[in-house]
Amino acid sequence: MLDKELNITDAEWRIMRVIWTLDTATSRELTNVLGESMDWKPATIKTLLRRLTDKKIIEAHKDGNKFIYTANIAENETIDLASQKFFNQVCARKVGSAITNLIDESELTQDDIDKIQSALNKKVPVEDIECNCIPGKCDC
Ligand SMILES: [Zn+2]
Repeated sequence: MLDKELNITDAEWRIMRVIWTLDTATSRELTNVLGESMDWKPATIKTLLRRLTDKKIIEAHKDGNKFIYTANIAENETIDLASQKFFNQVCARKVGSAITNLIDESELTQDDIDKIQSALNKKVPVEDIECNCIPGKCDC
C-alpha cells in the first residue's frame, strides 16, 4: 500500500489524471492522449510510468505483449493528501487566509458552496494558533 507521504511531480499528475479518467490505461493510450496534448515522447511517458510504479502509486499488469496500468490510490484521496501536504508546509497561522483565498479564486457550484458552508457551521474555532515559522523572523 502507498505510504502517506504523497510525492507526485507535476508531470506524474498528468499521467494520473489520464489513468483515473480511463480507469485502466495502456502506455499506447497514454501516449495517444499525452503525446498530443503535452507533446511528450513515448520514452518520457515510459519513464514517468516506471517512477509511478516504483512509488507504488500505480500498478502494471502484463496483458499479452502490453502493460495495463491501474491506480493504487483514488483521485479524491490523492487530492486530499496533496492539499494536506501543501497546508503542512505553510505557517499554521496563514492556513485560514490561504483557504479564504482558495475560495475566492475557485469556481464553485451551489452544491460546493453548500458543502463548504455546512463544514464551516460545524467547525469549532480554537482560541489561538501558534506560529510555526522560524522564531523571531516573521510577523505573523
Ligand atoms: Zn508564522
